[in-house]
Amino acid sequence: MTTLVRNGIVLPMTGTTTFDPGSVLLDGTDILAVGSVAELDADPRAAGAEIVDATNCVVLPGLHNCHLHSGLLRGTAESLSLWDWLKTYVDPAHRALTPEIAAAASLHCYAEGLLAGTTSVMDMWRYMEGSADAAAALGIRATLVPYVADGEFDYFETIETNRRLLETHRTASDGRVRTWVGLEHLMYCSEQCFAEAVALMEEFDTGLHTHSSESIWEVDESLKRWGRRPIEVFYNRGILGPNTVVAHCVWLSDIEIELLAKTGTGVAHCPCSNMKLSSGAARIGDLRKAGVAVGLGSDGEKENNNLDLVEEMKFASLLQKLTTLDPTTGDPWDILPMATIEGARALGLDGVTGSLEPGKRADVVVIDLGGLHTTPLLHGDDFNAAAHLVFSASGRDVRDVWVDGQRLVAGSKPLTFDIATVRATAQAAAEELFERRAKLAVE
Ligand SMILES: [Zn+2]
Repeated sequence: MTTLVRNGIVLPMTGTTTFDPGSVLLDGTDILAVGSVAELDADPRAAGAEIVDATNCVVLPGLHNCHLHSGLLRGTAESLSLWDWLKTYVDPAHRALTPEIAAAASLHCYAEGLLAGTTSVMDMWRYMEGSADAAAALGIRATLVPYVADGEFDYFETIETNRRLLETHRTASDGRVRTWVGLEHLMYCSEQCFAEAVALMEEFDTGLHTHSSESIWEVDESLKRWGRRPIEVFYNRGILGPNTVVAHCVWLSDIEIELLAKTGTGVAHCPCSNMKLSSGAARIGDLRKAGVAVGLGSDGEKENNNLDLVEEMKFASLLQKLTTLDPTTGDPWDILPMATIEGARALGLDGVTGSLEPGKRADVVVIDLGGLHTTPLLHGDDFNAAAHLVFSASGRDVRDVWVDGQRLVAGSKPLTFDIATVRATAQAAAEELFERRAKLAVE
Protein backbone atom coordinates (compact mmCIF):
# COMPACT_ATOMS: atom_id res chain seq x y z
CA MET A 1 0.00 0.00 0.00
CA THR A 2 1.63 3.27 -1.16
CA THR A 3 0.67 6.65 0.26
CA LEU A 4 1.54 10.07 -1.11
CA VAL A 5 1.43 12.76 1.57
CA ARG A 6 1.06 15.62 -0.87
CA ASN A 7 1.46 19.38 -1.03
CA GLY A 8 2.58 20.04 2.53
CA ILE A 9 5.48 21.97 4.04
CA VAL A 10 7.98 19.12 4.29
CA LEU A 11 10.72 19.42 6.91
CA PRO A 12 12.85 16.29 6.42
CA MET A 13 15.17 17.32 9.34
CA THR A 14 18.29 16.82 7.30
CA GLY A 15 19.69 20.23 8.15
CA THR A 16 17.39 23.15 7.35
CA THR A 17 16.27 21.84 3.94
CA THR A 18 12.57 22.29 3.28
CA PHE A 19 10.26 21.34 0.43
CA ASP A 20 7.54 23.95 0.35
CA PRO A 21 5.36 22.74 -1.19
CA GLY A 22 6.56 19.17 -0.97
CA SER A 23 5.44 15.57 -0.74
CA VAL A 24 6.52 12.33 0.91
CA LEU A 25 5.90 8.91 -0.59
CA LEU A 26 5.57 5.95 1.79
CA ASP A 27 4.87 2.27 1.47
CA GLY A 28 3.74 -0.16 4.17
CA THR A 29 7.01 0.25 6.10
CA ASP A 30 9.48 2.69 4.53
CA ILE A 31 9.90 6.15 3.08
CA LEU A 32 10.29 5.79 -0.68
CA ALA A 33 10.87 9.41 -1.72
CA VAL A 34 10.86 12.97 -0.38
CA GLY A 35 10.84 16.03 -2.63
CA SER A 36 8.89 18.76 -4.36
CA VAL A 37 5.26 18.21 -5.33
CA ALA A 38 6.12 18.20 -9.04
CA GLU A 39 8.94 15.74 -8.56
CA LEU A 40 6.87 13.22 -6.61
CA ASP A 41 3.78 13.63 -8.81
CA ALA A 42 6.02 12.51 -11.68
CA ASP A 43 7.50 9.57 -9.73
CA PRO A 44 6.15 6.33 -11.31
CA ARG A 45 6.09 4.72 -7.85
CA ALA A 46 3.43 7.27 -6.84
CA ALA A 47 1.02 6.05 -9.53
CA GLY A 48 -2.09 4.67 -7.83
CA ALA A 49 -0.95 5.78 -4.37
CA GLU A 50 -3.51 6.84 -1.80
CA ILE A 51 -3.27 10.65 -1.64
CA VAL A 52 -3.30 12.40 1.75
CA ASP A 53 -3.60 16.13 1.15
CA ALA A 54 -1.27 18.10 3.44
CA THR A 55 -2.06 21.63 2.26
CA ASN A 56 -1.36 24.14 5.08
CA CYS A 57 0.24 21.36 7.11
CA VAL A 58 3.79 20.56 8.08
CA VAL A 59 5.07 17.07 7.30
CA LEU A 60 7.68 16.14 9.87
CA PRO A 61 9.46 13.01 11.11
CA GLY A 62 7.69 11.46 14.12
CA LEU A 63 8.69 12.88 17.50
CA HIS A 64 10.82 10.99 20.03
CA ASN A 65 9.97 11.22 23.71
CA CYS A 66 13.33 10.26 25.21
CA HIS A 67 12.26 10.21 28.86
CA LEU A 68 8.81 9.19 29.99
CA HIS A 69 7.37 7.44 33.02
CA SER A 70 3.97 5.93 32.38
CA GLY A 71 1.72 6.80 35.30
CA LEU A 72 -1.65 7.86 36.63
CA LEU A 73 -0.79 10.53 39.23
CA ARG A 74 -1.47 13.55 37.05
CA GLY A 75 -2.45 16.62 39.04
CA THR A 76 -2.43 14.92 42.44
CA ALA A 77 0.86 16.00 43.99
CA GLU A 78 1.65 19.58 43.17
CA SER A 79 4.05 22.21 44.51
CA LEU A 80 6.49 19.97 46.37
CA SER A 81 10.25 19.71 46.20
CA LEU A 82 11.55 16.78 44.16
CA TRP A 83 12.63 14.60 47.07
CA ASP A 84 9.55 15.36 49.24
CA TRP A 85 7.38 14.56 46.31
CA LEU A 86 9.13 11.25 45.63
CA LYS A 87 8.94 10.15 49.26
CA THR A 88 5.40 11.29 50.03
CA TYR A 89 3.56 10.56 46.80
CA VAL A 90 5.47 8.74 44.13
CA ASP A 91 7.14 5.95 46.09
CA PRO A 92 3.94 4.99 47.98
CA ALA A 93 2.19 4.79 44.60
CA HIS A 94 4.92 2.42 43.44
CA ARG A 95 4.21 0.24 46.48
CA ALA A 96 0.53 0.13 45.58
CA LEU A 97 1.04 -0.57 41.87
CA THR A 98 -0.16 -3.82 40.26
CA PRO A 99 0.62 -5.20 36.77
CA GLU A 100 -2.91 -4.38 35.61
CA ILE A 101 -2.76 -0.78 36.82
CA ALA A 102 0.71 -0.38 35.28
CA ALA A 103 -0.52 -1.68 31.92
CA ALA A 104 -3.48 0.73 31.94
CA ALA A 105 -1.06 3.61 32.63
CA SER A 106 1.15 2.70 29.66
CA LEU A 107 -1.79 2.31 27.33
CA HIS A 108 -3.05 5.74 28.39
CA CYS A 109 0.33 7.48 28.12
CA TYR A 110 1.28 5.97 24.77
CA ALA A 111 -2.17 6.77 23.35
CA GLU A 112 -1.91 10.36 24.54
CA GLY A 113 1.58 10.70 23.08
CA LEU A 114 0.60 9.19 19.75
CA LEU A 115 -2.29 11.61 19.27
CA ALA A 116 0.19 14.45 19.89
CA GLY A 117 2.68 13.23 17.24
CA THR A 118 5.00 11.11 19.38
CA THR A 119 5.96 8.03 17.40
CA SER A 120 8.67 6.76 19.77
CA VAL A 121 8.85 6.67 23.57
CA MET A 122 11.53 5.65 26.00
CA ASP A 123 9.50 4.64 29.02
CA MET A 124 10.92 3.91 32.47
CA TRP A 125 8.17 2.06 34.27
CA ARG A 126 7.14 -1.14 36.02
CA TYR A 127 5.62 -4.52 35.08
CA MET A 128 6.52 -3.68 31.51
CA GLU A 129 5.14 -6.78 29.83
CA GLY A 130 1.91 -4.76 29.92
CA SER A 131 3.71 -1.78 28.39
CA ALA A 132 4.98 -4.00 25.57
CA ASP A 133 1.42 -5.17 24.92
CA ALA A 134 0.16 -1.57 24.93
CA ALA A 135 2.85 -0.50 22.43
CA ALA A 136 2.09 -3.51 20.23
CA ALA A 137 -1.63 -2.78 20.26
CA LEU A 138 -1.24 0.92 19.44
CA GLY A 139 1.62 0.50 16.94
CA ILE A 140 3.92 3.05 18.62
CA ARG A 141 7.71 2.57 18.78
CA ALA A 142 8.78 1.94 22.39
CA THR A 143 11.98 1.38 24.32
CA LEU A 144 11.07 -0.27 27.60
CA VAL A 145 13.23 0.51 30.62
CA PRO A 146 12.26 -1.06 33.94
CA TYR A 147 12.83 1.08 37.06
CA VAL A 148 15.52 -1.06 38.74
CA ALA A 149 16.54 -0.32 42.33
CA ASP A 150 17.75 -2.38 45.29
CA GLY A 151 18.35 -2.26 49.05
CA GLU A 152 15.51 -0.60 50.97
CA PHE A 153 13.85 0.32 47.66
CA ASP A 154 12.33 -3.12 47.34
CA TYR A 155 9.12 -1.91 45.68
CA PHE A 156 10.79 -1.20 42.32
CA GLU A 157 11.89 -3.57 39.58
CA THR A 158 15.03 -5.65 40.08
CA ILE A 159 17.90 -6.78 37.89
CA GLU A 160 16.12 -10.15 37.81
CA THR A 161 12.82 -8.73 36.47
CA ASN A 162 14.77 -6.59 33.97
CA ARG A 163 16.51 -9.78 32.81
CA ARG A 164 13.15 -11.55 32.39
CA LEU A 165 11.84 -8.69 30.26
CA LEU A 166 15.01 -8.80 28.16
CA GLU A 167 14.54 -12.54 27.65
CA THR A 168 11.03 -12.07 26.29
CA HIS A 169 11.15 -8.55 24.79
CA ARG A 170 14.76 -7.70 23.88
CA THR A 171 13.11 -6.88 20.58
CA ALA A 172 9.44 -7.46 19.79
CA SER A 173 6.72 -6.22 17.42
CA ASP A 174 8.98 -6.33 14.30
CA GLY A 175 11.66 -4.34 16.14
CA ARG A 176 9.35 -1.50 17.16
CA VAL A 177 9.55 -2.58 20.80
CA ARG A 178 12.95 -2.91 22.49
CA THR A 179 14.03 -3.46 26.07
CA TRP A 180 16.94 -1.68 27.70
CA VAL A 181 18.41 -1.89 31.17
CA GLY A 182 17.04 0.69 33.61
CA LEU A 183 18.44 2.18 36.79
CA GLU A 184 16.49 4.38 39.18
CA HIS A 185 18.34 7.38 40.68
CA LEU A 186 21.93 6.97 41.83
CA MET A 187 20.76 7.03 45.46
CA TYR A 188 18.34 4.13 44.88
CA CYS A 189 20.88 1.67 43.45
CA SER A 190 23.91 0.08 45.12
CA GLU A 191 27.29 -0.23 43.47
CA GLN A 192 26.56 -3.95 43.07
CA CYS A 193 23.32 -3.10 41.26
CA PHE A 194 25.28 -0.88 38.83
CA ALA A 195 27.77 -3.71 38.17
CA GLU A 196 24.93 -6.14 37.49
CA ALA A 197 23.28 -3.60 35.17
CA VAL A 198 26.49 -3.26 33.12
CA ALA A 199 26.79 -7.06 32.91
CA LEU A 200 23.16 -7.34 31.77
CA MET A 201 23.68 -4.65 29.14
CA GLU A 202 26.67 -6.54 27.75
CA GLU A 203 24.98 -9.93 27.88
CA PHE A 204 21.97 -8.75 25.89
CA ASP A 205 23.85 -6.20 23.77
CA THR A 206 21.40 -3.49 24.69
CA GLY A 207 21.24 0.09 26.04
CA LEU A 208 20.89 1.60 29.50
CA HIS A 209 18.76 4.47 30.72
CA THR A 210 18.74 6.35 34.01
CA HIS A 211 18.09 9.87 35.27
CA SER A 212 20.61 12.03 37.06
CA SER A 213 21.82 15.41 38.26
CA GLU A 214 18.28 16.67 38.42
CA SER A 215 18.58 18.66 41.67
CA ILE A 216 21.44 20.35 43.50
CA TRP A 217 20.72 18.11 46.50
CA GLU A 218 21.59 15.06 44.43
CA VAL A 219 24.97 16.50 43.42
CA ASP A 220 25.78 17.50 47.04
CA GLU A 221 24.76 14.07 48.30
CA SER A 222 26.92 12.37 45.66
CA LEU A 223 29.90 14.51 46.65
CA LYS A 224 29.29 13.62 50.30
CA ARG A 225 28.96 9.88 49.70
CA TRP A 226 31.54 9.29 46.98
CA GLY A 227 33.58 12.49 46.77
CA ARG A 228 32.52 12.79 43.14
CA ARG A 229 29.69 14.31 41.13
CA PRO A 230 26.99 11.92 39.75
CA ILE A 231 28.22 11.74 36.14
CA GLU A 232 31.77 11.08 37.42
CA VAL A 233 30.37 8.23 39.54
CA PHE A 234 28.57 6.88 36.46
CA TYR A 235 31.81 7.05 34.49
CA ASN A 236 33.72 5.16 37.17
CA ARG A 237 30.97 2.54 37.36
CA GLY A 238 31.18 2.00 33.59
CA ILE A 239 27.65 2.88 32.55
CA LEU A 240 28.43 5.78 30.19
CA GLY A 241 28.71 5.05 26.47
CA PRO A 242 26.96 5.35 23.11
CA ASN A 243 24.17 2.99 24.23
CA THR A 244 23.36 4.98 27.36
CA VAL A 245 20.91 7.85 27.76
CA VAL A 246 20.84 9.94 30.94
CA ALA A 247 17.78 12.08 31.58
CA HIS A 248 17.82 15.61 33.04
CA CYS A 249 21.55 16.37 33.47
CA VAL A 250 20.63 19.77 34.90
CA TRP A 251 23.57 20.32 37.24
CA LEU A 252 26.69 19.44 35.27
CA SER A 253 30.27 20.62 35.63
CA ASP A 254 32.45 21.16 32.55
CA ILE A 255 34.18 17.87 33.34
CA GLU A 256 30.85 16.03 33.40
CA ILE A 257 29.89 17.49 30.01
CA GLU A 258 33.23 16.32 28.67
CA LEU A 259 32.66 12.82 30.09
CA LEU A 260 29.24 12.60 28.41
CA ALA A 261 30.69 13.85 25.11
CA LYS A 262 33.75 11.62 25.03
CA THR A 263 31.78 8.48 25.89
CA GLY A 264 29.05 9.27 23.33
CA THR A 265 26.36 9.19 26.03
CA GLY A 266 22.98 10.67 25.07
CA VAL A 267 20.97 13.12 27.17
CA ALA A 268 17.20 13.47 27.51
CA HIS A 269 16.32 17.09 28.25
CA CYS A 270 13.05 17.56 30.15
CA PRO A 271 12.54 21.33 30.37
CA CYS A 272 8.94 21.31 31.59
CA SER A 273 9.66 18.88 34.43
CA ASN A 274 12.83 20.78 35.37
CA MET A 275 10.87 24.02 35.63
CA LYS A 276 7.89 22.53 37.44
CA LEU A 277 9.98 20.78 40.09
CA SER A 278 12.23 23.87 40.36
CA SER A 279 15.19 21.67 39.48
CA GLY A 280 17.05 24.19 37.34
CA ALA A 281 18.05 24.75 33.71
CA ALA A 282 20.27 22.24 31.93
CA ARG A 283 23.23 23.58 29.97
CA ILE A 284 21.79 22.43 26.66
CA GLY A 285 23.83 24.82 24.51
CA ASP A 286 27.08 23.60 26.08
CA LEU A 287 26.08 19.94 25.80
CA ARG A 288 25.22 20.28 22.13
CA LYS A 289 28.34 22.30 21.41
CA ALA A 290 30.34 19.44 22.94
CA GLY A 291 28.65 17.06 20.48
CA VAL A 292 26.30 15.29 22.92
CA ALA A 293 23.10 13.95 21.32
CA VAL A 294 20.32 15.73 23.22
CA GLY A 295 16.74 14.58 22.79
CA LEU A 296 13.60 15.89 24.47
CA GLY A 297 11.60 14.12 27.16
CA SER A 298 8.27 14.88 28.77
CA ASP A 299 9.22 13.04 31.96
CA GLY A 300 6.14 11.62 33.71
CA GLU A 301 2.55 12.80 33.50
CA LYS A 302 2.85 13.85 37.15
CA GLU A 303 5.65 16.37 36.57
CA ASN A 304 4.62 17.83 33.21
CA ASN A 305 1.38 17.40 33.25
CA ASN A 306 0.82 16.36 29.68
CA LEU A 307 2.78 14.33 27.16
CA ASP A 308 2.88 16.92 24.41
CA LEU A 309 6.30 17.00 22.73
CA VAL A 310 5.24 19.85 20.44
CA GLU A 311 4.65 22.00 23.50
CA GLU A 312 7.86 20.68 25.07
CA MET A 313 9.81 22.28 22.20
CA LYS A 314 8.54 25.70 23.26
CA PHE A 315 9.58 25.11 26.87
CA ALA A 316 13.01 23.95 25.67
CA SER A 317 13.52 27.13 23.70
CA LEU A 318 12.16 29.57 26.28
CA LEU A 319 14.07 28.03 29.18
CA GLN A 320 17.33 28.47 27.27
CA LYS A 321 16.49 32.03 26.33
CA LEU A 322 15.57 32.93 29.91
CA THR A 323 18.51 31.35 31.67
CA THR A 324 21.25 32.39 29.24
CA LEU A 325 19.77 35.87 28.68
CA ASP A 326 20.70 35.25 25.06
CA PRO A 327 17.76 35.63 22.63
CA THR A 328 19.75 33.97 19.84
CA THR A 329 19.69 30.58 21.61
CA GLY A 330 16.74 28.21 21.35
CA ASP A 331 16.12 28.97 17.68
CA PRO A 332 13.39 26.78 16.16
CA TRP A 333 15.98 25.15 13.90
CA ASP A 334 18.03 24.22 16.99
CA ILE A 335 15.00 22.87 18.84
CA LEU A 336 13.30 20.86 16.06
CA PRO A 337 16.23 18.41 15.72
CA MET A 338 16.07 17.65 19.45
CA ALA A 339 12.48 16.43 19.06
CA THR A 340 13.31 14.43 15.92
CA ILE A 341 16.74 13.38 14.58
CA GLU A 342 18.80 14.17 17.69
CA GLY A 343 16.29 12.32 19.84
CA ALA A 344 16.60 9.36 17.49
CA ARG A 345 20.40 9.61 17.68
CA ALA A 346 20.29 9.60 21.49
CA LEU A 347 18.14 6.46 21.37
CA GLY A 348 20.38 4.79 18.77
CA LEU A 349 17.50 4.85 16.28
CA ASP A 350 18.85 7.41 13.81
CA GLY A 351 19.67 4.70 11.27
CA VAL A 352 16.00 3.70 11.31
CA THR A 353 14.01 6.88 11.89
CA GLY A 354 14.27 10.53 13.02
CA SER A 355 14.38 12.14 9.57
CA LEU A 356 12.43 11.86 6.33
CA GLU A 357 14.88 10.12 4.03
CA PRO A 358 14.34 7.33 1.50
CA GLY A 359 15.10 3.96 3.09
CA LYS A 360 14.21 5.00 6.63
CA ARG A 361 11.12 3.66 8.33
CA ALA A 362 8.05 5.76 7.60
CA ASP A 363 7.50 7.43 10.98
CA VAL A 364 5.74 10.57 9.81
CA VAL A 365 3.48 13.20 11.37
CA VAL A 366 1.30 15.80 9.69
CA ILE A 367 0.66 18.89 11.80
CA ASP A 368 -2.09 21.27 10.75
CA LEU A 369 -0.97 24.90 10.67
CA GLY A 370 -4.32 26.15 9.41
CA GLY A 371 -5.52 27.39 12.81
CA LEU A 372 -5.91 30.99 13.94
CA HIS A 373 -2.97 30.50 16.32
CA THR A 374 -0.73 29.55 13.38
CA THR A 375 -1.82 32.35 11.03
CA PRO A 376 -0.33 33.89 8.91
CA LEU A 377 1.40 30.95 7.30
CA LEU A 378 4.06 32.33 5.00
CA HIS A 379 6.39 30.91 2.40
CA GLY A 380 9.57 31.78 0.53
CA ASP A 381 11.59 34.56 2.15
CA ASP A 382 9.03 34.94 4.93
CA PHE A 383 8.92 31.19 5.75
CA ASN A 384 7.59 30.82 9.29
CA ALA A 385 6.44 27.19 9.65
CA ALA A 386 9.44 26.19 11.81
CA ALA A 387 8.69 29.03 14.24
CA HIS A 388 4.99 28.13 14.25
CA LEU A 389 5.82 24.53 15.15
CA VAL A 390 7.97 25.49 18.13
CA PHE A 391 6.17 28.56 19.44
CA SER A 392 2.53 28.45 18.31
CA ALA A 393 1.45 24.87 17.65
CA SER A 394 0.62 22.13 20.14
CA GLY A 395 0.09 18.39 19.99
CA ARG A 396 -3.62 19.09 19.43
CA ASP A 397 -2.73 20.30 15.94
CA VAL A 398 -1.37 16.87 14.97
CA ARG A 399 -3.62 15.48 12.26
CA ASP A 400 -2.02 12.28 10.93
CA VAL A 401 0.56 9.84 12.27
CA TRP A 402 2.32 6.87 10.68
CA VAL A 403 4.76 4.49 12.36
CA ASP A 404 6.59 1.94 10.18
CA GLY A 405 4.32 3.07 7.35
CA GLN A 406 1.17 2.10 9.26
CA ARG A 407 -1.30 4.93 9.63
CA LEU A 408 -2.18 5.15 13.33
CA VAL A 409 -3.93 8.53 13.41
CA ALA A 410 -6.03 9.99 10.59
CA GLY A 411 -7.75 13.37 10.81
CA SER A 412 -6.82 13.53 14.53
CA LYS A 413 -8.72 10.27 15.13
CA PRO A 414 -6.86 7.19 16.34
CA LEU A 415 -7.16 4.09 14.15
CA THR A 416 -5.74 1.54 16.61
CA PHE A 417 -7.60 2.43 19.79
CA ASP A 418 -10.78 3.99 21.09
CA ILE A 419 -10.22 7.13 23.17
CA ALA A 420 -13.24 6.55 25.44
CA THR A 421 -12.12 3.00 26.25
CA VAL A 422 -8.54 4.04 27.01
CA ARG A 423 -9.84 6.85 29.19
CA ALA A 424 -12.28 4.63 31.10
CA THR A 425 -9.58 2.00 31.69
CA ALA A 426 -7.13 4.61 32.98
CA GLN A 427 -9.78 6.25 35.18
CA ALA A 428 -10.71 2.94 36.82
CA ALA A 429 -7.05 1.95 37.24
CA ALA A 430 -6.22 5.31 38.86
CA GLU A 431 -9.13 5.04 41.28
CA GLU A 432 -7.97 1.56 42.26
CA LEU A 433 -4.39 2.79 42.66
CA PHE A 434 -5.40 5.62 45.00
CA GLU A 435 -7.56 3.28 47.06
CA ARG A 436 -4.69 0.82 47.41
CA ARG A 437 -2.24 3.59 48.28
CA ALA A 438 -4.56 4.94 51.01
CA LYS A 439 -4.94 1.44 52.49
CA LEU A 440 -1.17 0.92 52.54
CA ALA A 441 -0.74 4.29 54.30
CA VAL A 442 -2.91 3.28 57.30
CA GLU A 443 -1.42 -0.21 57.63
ZN1 LIG B 1 12.32 10.80 35.27
